[in-house]
Amino acid sequence: MNNKDVQSWPDSVQGFSPGTKGRKKGPGNFSSDLRPREKCGIFAVYNYRQPDKTALITYLGLLALQHRGQESAGMAFVSPEGLQCIKGMGLVDNVFSRRILNSIRAATVLGHIRYSTTGTSIPTNAQPLVARSFDKKGIALAHNGNLTNTRSLHDRQLREGQIFHTTSDTEILLSYLFRYRRQGLVQAAVKAIEIVRGAYAAVVINEDRVVAFRDPGGYRPLVIGLLDQAYVFASETAALDTVGADFVREVEPGEIICAGPDGIESVHVRQAGAKPSLCIFEYIYFARPDSVIDGQSVHLARKTVGSLLARRIPTLPDMVIPSPDSGVSAAIGLAEALNLPLEWAVHRNPYLGRTFIAPTRDERELAVRLKFNPIKELIRGKKVAVVDDSLVRGTTARILTSMLKSAGAAEVHLCIASPPYKNPCYYGIDIPVAAELAALDTDFKKLAENIGAASLTFSEPEDLYSALGKDQSKYCTACFSGDY
Ligand code: SF4
Repeated sequence: MNNKDVQSWPDSVQGFSPGTKGRKKGPGNFSSDLRPREKCGIFAVYNYRQPDKTALITYLGLLALQHRGQESAGMAFVSPEGLQCIKGMGLVDNVFSRRILNSIRAATVLGHIRYSTTGTSIPTNAQPLVARSFDKKGIALAHNGNLTNTRSLHDRQLREGQIFHTTSDTEILLSYLFRYRRQGLVQAAVKAIEIVRGAYAAVVINEDRVVAFRDPGGYRPLVIGLLDQAYVFASETAALDTVGADFVREVEPGEIICAGPDGIESVHVRQAGAKPSLCIFEYIYFARPDSVIDGQSVHLARKTVGSLLARRIPTLPDMVIPSPDSGVSAAIGLAEALNLPLEWAVHRNPYLGRTFIAPTRDERELAVRLKFNPIKELIRGKKVAVVDDSLVRGTTARILTSMLKSAGAAEVHLCIASPPYKNPCYYGIDIPVAAELAALDTDFKKLAENIGAASLTFSEPEDLYSALGKDQSKYCTACFSGDY
């Protein structure tokens, strides 16, 4: 995809706007707008032999993926009454009580947690989305990612008489799957992949099977596990570990995996022009450090990138401090490489939970101060290197630097374990509009001064490829390179 295609994104269509543009901000996590956000996590169990336990397993899987979305949670399942769905706004724990979990008896359950990047954060956009026919048969879909030809498909479907119930791009995918379902779910997925463009890891269920698929570029991760001979699908391996499932393999880019009465079936769909495009930001920030993506431990990748910062930092500090919790893996790598103490010198308040703070600059600053407090006795008079995974708006870095200096640090050297973030994401990550990105200012000396740091060091793209042991051609790096 070239820049021109991306610029034709459907941002003028009401309710189908990308990223933050046009999105109504509701109350959210107190760190709202300080970090880029993942769009969604998926967890599904197929034909588990204890139907009274499947919802509980899905609940645990969704809890393990909660970092990928906190706006809504839901489960779809097949019961004697047909395809059912329970979903609501809030964290997994808020939506599913023990009473609700006990009431679900189903061998197959599809779960989803959402953070909106296309479509507002409202109950009707919560997933899974369900489409039913009069006989109560139907399909339920959970999607992680963003479609990039939403506008043209939306217009086309409207002309064809389609009615939309949500403002989410997921409904476009759902309508194609439902339209072609009588040809079988696998064939319906083939048709949908041929029509839609963009980033999607998706799982769809009907009465007797689960179909999981990834877009031909493979932007978003999706893995298969085995739990007591039942197939499990999850956005990250950490969720498999949580429920005690064994990792089987990844769903490959452009692959459709169907688990059904006859076992497992795999179909590959090729799309002209598609190239490998795994989101490199999954390694930098989104995925849990205890997950493995494409055979690579996320923690070890971050740690290696941190160690490579050692040759770029312009001065030898007295200690290394991780920005809690996002800079921990990289800080360990940098401290080891420089043979310096790693000090947990910024306390993070773990009890804040969700706080109603609107995304104004003052309130963002208040959010950081609520969240962090430096330990003065550790840092007084010291030159400190503070490590974070990325620099987006620079809000956290600026306030953290100011707090450390107020607490007596002699110098604060900011080390960012990723290259400068200069372009918005159109593939399912909520990143501020371009004008708000701190690294748009390519004069990093000036940027360091604005932040209040004595120096500002970024990783280079080759550090990431070296840490991942693969070349650039495997990944989407558009937010660094602008190469969409
Ligand atoms: S643009 Fe950046 S955040 Fe978006 S998919 Fe590509 S690498 Fe990931």
